[in-house]
Amino acid sequence: MSELLLRGARMPGGVIADIAIRGGRIAAIGPGASAGFLAGAPTDVDAAGCLVLPGLVDGHCHIDKSLWGTPWHPHQAGPTLQDKIRNEREVLRALALSPQTQSARLLERMLACGTTHARTHVDVGPEMGLSHLQGVLATREAWRDRIDLQLVAFPQQGVALQPGALALLEQAVREGAEVIGGLDPIGMDRDPKHQLDGIFDIAGRLGCAIDIHLHDRGDMGALTIEMVAERCAALGLRGKVALSHVFCLGMLEPARLDEITRLLLDQDIAIMTHAPSGPTPFPPVRQLHAQGVRLFTGSDGVRDAWSPLNNGDMLERAYLIAYRCGFRDDAGIELALDMASGGGARVMGVSGHGLQVGDQADLVLVQAETPAEAVVYHPPRRMVIKRGKIVAHDGH
Ligand SMILES: [Zn+2]
Repeated sequence: MSELLLRGARMPGGVIADIAIRGGRIAAIGPGASAGFLAGAPTDVDAAGCLVLPGLVDGHCHIDKSLWGTPWHPHQAGPTLQDKIRNEREVLRALALSPQTQSARLLERMLACGTTHARTHVDVGPEMGLSHLQGVLATREAWRDRIDLQLVAFPQQGVALQPGALALLEQAVREGAEVIGGLDPIGMDRDPKHQLDGIFDIAGRLGCAIDIHLHDRGDMGALTIEMVAERCAALGLRGKVALSHVFCLGMLEPARLDEITRLLLDQDIAIMTHAPSGPTPFPPVRQLHAQGVRLFTGSDGVRDAWSPLNNGDMLERAYLIAYRCGFRDDAGIELALDMASGGGARVMGVSGHGLQVGDQADLVLVQAETPAEAVVYHPPRRMVIKRGKIVAHDGH
């Protein structure tokens, strides 16, 4: 007997099918899927021809310091990275918000938008200690049935610059973060060896993954990727490292880009871009995908001191990637969608993410004919299902 029967859902190929869900997994799909599952299904839902997609994956967000659900806060930061970090400390000190409350407020929004998995970078450093991490860990526990959350211990204020930062990052991993973060080892710390040796040492000993924010442009960024790949190979961390933003990949000469792409492939380093606003360069998505580099995306900061622009909607994020990349064909738009779904799931190590029998029943239903149309219009999500249970409805 199924726990949930979805009648008349539109599969991405256009076929209308029933989807039977049992034990939190897809048990059967097809016009006759209901036959063996009809009797006594406690929840029987008419999907009304809505398109069904695998749950969306926000592969890079910062839910601990969002201003979501609080009065509008006009953006006041200056243009540089240091300006933004300084401004953020001032804003967070002045507002004194709770990371636990703010992360829960934002998760409610993300879930309503169809996000069933997220990797969130959580500030860790001498100033806040592990307080943000503890807040988000409490939220993760409270939300465990609705969203799978992976935590990155993130040194927002640097590593070499902050005595004690490495010990705190290690402690954060011991207390529940699955990933260790980093930030511009050259531009921020001006001591790439210190930062990279430090975080790779922790990852090597504790077996966690790595996800480094890399805003450094041009060859400074490319040099950092070389240093990352070298350490990845030395410690046997192939496939466990991601780099976020990586603006430099949008700036290199073709021959240099080829060299760097080879390193990304050799070490299976995944690349996250959220399609930055304004004139900021970003990685050449279609080219990297064609060469086999794993790509994913995320909201980055949602309504926070870094920017008021992002809102936690991963279908809209896929649209923004397509828009900035100039993708008009379905294949390009579907690539952007995969970055906001399967691409992020693979980086997070999620198994059974998809629409096959046996896959986890993490689904989002939306009124659209095709995945490309769902991205372009990104209408309110009709229904969100997590492990076979309906967790959001009509955008709420
Ligand atoms: Zn970020």
